[in-house]
Amino acid sequence: KVRVRFAPSPTGPLHIGGLRTALFNYLFAKKHGGDFLLRIEDTDQNRYVDGAEAYIVEALNWCGIPFDEGPDKEGACGPYRQSERKDIYKSYALQLVESGNAYYAFDTQENLDFHRKDHEAKGKTFIYNWHNRTKLSNSLSLSQEQVKAKLNSGEDYVIRFKSPQDKELILKDIIRGEIRIDTNVLDDKILFKSDGMPTYHLANIVDDHLMKISHVIRGEEWLPSLALHTLLYDAFDWKAPQFAHLPLIMKPVGKGKLSKRDGEKGGFPVFPLTWNESEGYREAGFFPEAVVNFLALLGWNPGTEQEIFTLQELIKTFSLERVNKSGARFDPEKNSWYNQQWLQRKSDEELADLFLRELSKRSETLEMSKSYVQKVVGLIKERASFVSEFWDLGSYFFEAPSEYNEKATKKQWKEDTPQIMGNVVSVLETINDFSSATIEETVKAWITDQELSFGKVMPPLRLVIVGDMKGPHLFDIMELIGKEDSIERIKKAIS
Ligand code: GLU
Repeated sequence: KVRVRFAPSPTGPLHIGGLRTALFNYLFAKKHGGDFLLRIEDTDQNRYVDGAEAYIVEALNWCGIPFDEGPDKEGACGPYRQSERKDIYKSYALQLVESGNAYYAFDTQENLDFHRKDHEAKGKTFIYNWHNRTKLSNSLSLSQEQVKAKLNSGEDYVIRFKSPQDKELILKDIIRGEIRIDTNVLDDKILFKSDGMPTYHLANIVDDHLMKISHVIRGEEWLPSLALHTLLYDAFDWKAPQFAHLPLIMKPVGKGKLSKRDGEKGGFPVFPLTWNESEGYREAGFFPEAVVNFLALLGWNPGTEQEIFTLQELIKTFSLERVNKSGARFDPEKNSWYNQQWLQRKSDEELADLFLRELSKRSETLEMSKSYVQKVVGLIKERASFVSEFWDLGSYFFEAPSEYNEKATKKQWKEDTPQIMGNVVSVLETINDFSSATIEETVKAWITDQELSFGKVMPPLRLVIVGDMKGPHLFDIMELIGKEDSIERIKKAIS
C-alpha cells in the first residue's frame, strides 16, 4: 500500500517549498488510494519554535490537503511527534553498534576542530571516516576496556555510522534515475547522542520503517543524505522505500533558491499563512485552489497545455515521472494570474460574501443588500485578480464619484456638454422600466433623432456616472445604481 509522509521540523513557518512537498505527497497518496501522514521531526530541541506545528497543520487544512495520520489524528503507527518517540531510537542505534555498522565516539569538539584545522592547513578536507577513524577517540581505535570505562564513567559519547570504504553505491531516485556515489566521500554521520536524542538521520529512517512508508518524496536539499539513508536501510536489513527528490524552487529573478527575503524585497508572500510580520497567501487574498494550482505546477507538468487544475484533477493527473529535474522558477505574477483565474470560477454569491466583509470594514454607513453586491460583483469580477481590488474597480456602484478623471474631462467635456447632459436627464426621466436594455434603446434612439454623435453623449455620460472612462457596459451600471441616482449624478456634474 502506498504510504507517504510529510516530515517537517517545527522550526518556523512552513515555506512555500515545504507546502509543495506536502502537496506532492498528498497528490501521490490520493492518486494511489494510499495514506498521507504528517510526522513532526522535533528531535532538535534547540531549533524548536513554539506554534510552528499548529501553523503547519492549519496550512495543510487551509489548502484542503489534510493528513490521514498525524499528531492528534492517531493511526496505527503513532505517536507522530518524534519527541514522543524518544525511547524507540536508542535500541536501534545499539542494534547497529552490535552488528558492527556503527560505533561509539568520544571526541571533544576541540579535538575535532584541531583535526579540521590541521587538514585545512595541508589543503585537505577532514572527513570523519576510515581516513581518520584510527587517529580519533572511538571504539574502533580504543580497546574494549577503554570504551567500557568511558561509558561507565558517564563520559559524553555519540554513536556514528560506519560508512564503508572503497565502495560504489548505486542510488535510485524516481525523478533522477540512478545516482552513483563513491563511499569514500561520505563521513561517519552521528546517529545518536548521549543526551538520549537521535539525530535526524536515525530518527527519520527508523520512523519511515516503523510507519511503513512506501515512498519518500522530499526536497532536493535532502538528496545528499540519500547515500547514508540507503546504507542505513541495508545495515538494518530493511527494505528501503522508494525515493523522489523534488527540484528546488528558484528566485523569481536571478540565480539561486527562493528565500524569505525574496518575498520581503518583492512584496509577495512566500508563506501560506501569515507568520509574525510576513504576510501569507491566505491573508493576501489568495484562494486555496489557486495556491494548490500554482504549487502543483512548480516542478511538475501535466504534459499538456492545461494550466488550471482542481485538486481532484491534480490527483487524477499527477505522477512523479512528470516531475522535472531542474529547478522551478517562482513567478509571483503568474501566481496572481492563477488567482484571477480562480476568482472567475467562483460564484457571484461567494464573492459577494467576501466583498461584503471588505465593505463593512471600509464603512459602517455603506449598507448594502447582498443581492445588490452580487450584481456588482458579476459586472466587475472579470478584471479582478483579488477581492481586494473590487472596491477600486467598482466604488462608483456605491457612491457618486467625488472627482472626475482630469485627462478624460479635458478630452470629453466640451462647451455644449452640460446642455447635452441636461437633455439626457430629461430623456432618462421619461423611462419607466429602468433596465439596461430599455435605457440603451431610448438613449440611442434619442441620439439618432437629435442627429447627435455617440461620441458627444456616451463618453461624458460615463464620466459623470463613473468618474472615469473605465467600467463595464454603461447602461448596466445605470440600471444597477438606478434611475434616481443616475439622474442625480448627471445633475451634480452640470450644476
Ligand atoms: N525533517 C526534515 C525536513 O525538515 C525531513 C526530511 C525528509 O523528508 O526526509 O525537511
